[in-house]
Amino acid sequence: MDKIPYTLQRSNRKSIGFTINAEGLKITAPNWVSQTIIDQAIQAKKPWIQSKLLQWQQQSPVPTCWQNGMQLPYLGRQIIVQLNPQLASCRYEGNYNLAQDNDRLYVNLPSTANALAIKTACTQWFQGRALAWFEIRLRHFQQSSGAKPLCLRLSSATTRWGSCSANGHIRLNWRLIHLCPELIDYVIAHELAHLKEMNHSPRFWAEVKRILPNYEAAKNRLKQKSLRTLPIL
Ligand SMILES: [Zn+2]
Repeated sequence: MDKIPYTLQRSNRKSIGFTINAEGLKITAPNWVSQTIIDQAIQAKKPWIQSKLLQWQQQSPVPTCWQNGMQLPYLGRQIIVQLNPQLASCRYEGNYNLAQDNDRLYVNLPSTANALAIKTACTQWFQGRALAWFEIRLRHFQQSSGAKPLCLRLSSATTRWGSCSANGHIRLNWRLIHLCPELIDYVIAHELAHLKEMNHSPRFWAEVKRILPNYEAAKNRLKQKSLRTLPIL
């Protein structure tokens, strides 16, 4: 049987604890517990441990390699970054509101540009597109739902897609622009619904449904997405 590697930490807690993160399995065990008991606990927990470890492995971010010809996800499609020093600013080849796989994003940098310069230029372009896209979609939902005008800001939070305050300030994570339009719409509908219901009660979900009738599929798909799986911009 395969042995699962782990780090062991002794403590004065009362039971054996398991945590799994990007570093793998960590076991915290009371000082008095023997190795045999720990081994038995691992056996008993094995299915759970293995499925959690697998989840983390699948979610581990692929290090972004900033170079000419690299791919980045944009509105759920894979676009290609191409360096072109002849341009005055970034240029998108294709329709950036209707992105297709292999659309080109020309970045006004020489082919010798270093990773940081490419990353900075791409981040700026993505953030600009994020703001423009979110504004278009917000306006769309405001018209159809009658929600009052509000103030939109981009966020760079590492753990959440969006937030909303009672005074109508909506913050959307600019990294949402990597995802499919349907998923972005769901986050926007979710935050708009919070303008009426600052909770996750049945009344809140009824409001989400009123704004975006088929929200459930997007909600479930978004659950499988993690900010960790997106390129580190
Ligand atoms: Zn919420």
